[in-house]
Amino acid sequence: LAGYVGFANLPNQVHRKSVKKGFQFTCMVVGESGLGKSTLVNTLFNTGLYPPKENVEPTHETPQTVEIQSITADIEENGVKLRLTVVDSPGFGDFVNNEQSWKPILDSIESRFDAYLEQENRVNRRRMVDNRIHACLYFIAPTGHALKPLDIEFMRRLHTRVNLIPVIAKADTLTEEEVYAFKQRILADINYHKIQIYQAPAYEYDDQETIEENREIMSKIPFAVVGSDKQFEVNGKQVRGRKYPWGVIEVDNEEHCDFVKLRQMLIRTHMEELKEYTNDVLYENYRTEKLTAMGI
Ligand code: GDP
Ligand code: MG
Repeated sequence: LAGYVGFANLPNQVHRKSVKKGFQFTCMVVGESGLGKSTLVNTLFNTGLYPPKENVEPTHETPQTVEIQSITADIEENGVKLRLTVVDSPGFGDFVNNEQSWKPILDSIESRFDAYLEQENRVNRRRMVDNRIHACLYFIAPTGHALKPLDIEFMRRLHTRVNLIPVIAKADTLTEEEVYAFKQRILADINYHKIQIYQAPAYEYDDQETIEENREIMSKIPFAVVGSDKQFEVNGKQVRGRKYPWGVIEVDNEEHCDFVKLRQMLIRTHMEELKEYTNDVLYENYRTEKLTAMGI
């Protein structure tokens, strides 16, 4: 299981054409430094997408703004190809004044919409390049208290432009009861501030099993995640996890955290949904607003 991502098992409704051409998915990660974003991305996609810190050239000065960085990797599984792009935003929330932290991220999302719109308006639309962000994982610090003003501001500014998927970072630092209470509190805050997080649509033609699986996945949001690049032996088996004096918290064990559910949602059950919603609703609304503002 640990050496396997899972997109090769995408559901039947996904067109055979995409299987042949390969899938393309762009995911963004946002959150303060040190919350485990790079580690989780590596854990999710089972690749060293991010090189270990010591191999990274030290920067000469501390950046004063949020940067936008993107990394692309081609992953293949059972003959199915996935071109995965992860967009990171180092610097978010790291400054004395974080009032505008969300701005470069919103700008990046909108300029990707603009680039797509520009291509749609071309005469030859055969070679469209789609760099739009299909999902944004927002990392919430495991304080166990409530959302911070920074979290609320970011989500309020971005929710009409991107599929927001909140996650509780480093969930291994909280007890099961703390995770449960923290989730309730986060959802209450999200609700109070009228923030629209990603919600999977239900279809009339869905079978009972699919409905049940979707309900299970959605009930875990905000996903309590644990990332790790280390393996340990538990009952004679190698597992990915984080070691404590009293035992190992296992990444791939659903009793320990929601990592498996998050991965299922992103890579297997909802990848196409996230892309469709981005195109049909988020992008379409942006396009309409833009053309209206231009008087078209
Ligand atoms: P980023 O700055 O958000 O990209 O965070 P990194 O992935 O670089 O991780 C920062 C530190 O947190 C590293 O020392 C990681 O080993 C550690 N870390 C990453 N994920 C977890 C986690 O799920 N739980 C715990 N306890 N530590 C983690
Ligand atoms: Mg990082």
